[in-house]
Amino acid sequence: MRTITILGATGSVGQSTIDLIARKPGDFAVEALTGAGNVGLLARDAQKLGARLAVTARDDLYGDLKDLLAGTGIEVAAGAAAVAEAASRPADWTMSAIVGAAGLVPGLEVVRRGGTLGLANKETLVAAGPLVMGTARATGATILPVDSEHSAIFQALRGEDIGAVERLILTASGGAFRDWPLERLAEATVEEASSHPNWDMGQRITIDSASMFNKALEVIEARELFGLAPSAIEVLVHPESLVHALVGFRDGALMAHLGAPDMRHAIGFALNYPSREALPVARLDLAAVGTLSFRAPDPARYPALALARRVMEDGGLMGAVFNAAKEAALDAFLSHRVRFTEMSEVVTRVLDSIPGDAGLPRLSASGAMPSLEDVLEADRLARRLADGFVDGMRG
Ligand code: NDP
Ligand code: MG
Repeated sequence: MRTITILGATGSVGQSTIDLIARKPGDFAVEALTGAGNVGLLARDAQKLGARLAVTARDDLYGDLKDLLAGTGIEVAAGAAAVAEAASRPADWTMSAIVGAAGLVPGLEVVRRGGTLGLANKETLVAAGPLVMGTARATGATILPVDSEHSAIFQALRGEDIGAVERLILTASGGAFRDWPLERLAEATVEEASSHPNWDMGQRITIDSASMFNKALEVIEARELFGLAPSAIEVLVHPESLVHALVGFRDGALMAHLGAPDMRHAIGFALNYPSREALPVARLDLAAVGTLSFRAPDPARYPALALARRVMEDGGLMGAVFNAAKEAALDAFLSHRVRFTEMSEVVTRVLDSIPGDAGLPRLSASGAMPSLEDVLEADRLARRLADGFVDGMRG
């Protein structure tokens, strides 16, 4: 029996994780489940799985969650600090599936206690890669990638020498607007951006797929996870989303990972690691698929990709700045304060304004490991700057 904690249990990845765990009731004991607004679902799953602890990140929903779980014996807590506390409790395996920078502190708690972390929350590594990976090396924590591309790379690298790797190729569906005429993108609505051609995911990552900010985050995530030079990490548009990533070796060989677009594969691989167990995912019939297509990403359609290159070159706290500016720009798009195409403008302006801004914590030496406080300060500064640019664009 393994003990499991799921951070972000009520979301898309969280629910897929619960689907896998619920199929093997005798194998897992649930330590904690965390959610935010959806306390009804959180309470239902906590009861279904017999969790010891249920936590909502929302202080104002403490009473609701408490009422829903009254008489069950399940411990209830609320607030961001309670989510982090849940993550710090011992568990054999923890899923990090909170969306956004809110996932950083709880994920870091798992790494600090030397736990095993299934990492879906890519923002953790974009904002604080050196801190999180450095802490993992110090504590002996295991980080297992759950983002499908990174899981695919991780699997293709098994038994290989990382020194023999020439390049990593992340595939991208191209998102909701891959075939739209460029001049129409400025008119794209929130609803149109929220529908993904191949994957069923949370709304924020779906919109980030349309803008390719998601792939931009993933390029940085791959650099932090696998330690290759930025120039060795490529992006390839693959509309069918069946090849999840490729690894190129110095002898010219390319190892590709293929599978149905179902997150339960990557989640299940991390959950069962190092064993490969049967999973309830569709089997690919390549004869029925017939053709796989690939093309280079168009820089004019996806300006986020060039921004990721710039962020990797700058290093330091720029990952935290980039992620936070992107989140603030996405918030502004969701609340109809900026157009779809203005999100990358907002992020560009934040990146442009940072070198001259004294508000960013100075790292003592280049390559130094930022502290959590430095990262959180860079995050706050970027959000403040982004909100200012959004207001300026509307004013
Ligand atoms: P969802 O939006 O579906 O779920 C997000 C989860 O985080 C929910 O449980 C939500 O609670 C919780 N949450 C929201 N805000 C906070 C907060 N401030 N503090 C604590 N918890 C919070 O997201 P996804 O499942 O789509 O994505 C989760 C992560 O996994 C993201 O980092 C994403 O990039 C990554 N990922 C997702 C994939 C996918 O297929 N969905 C694929 C690869 C990576 P509630 O719903 O109760 O409000
Ligand atoms: Mg991905």
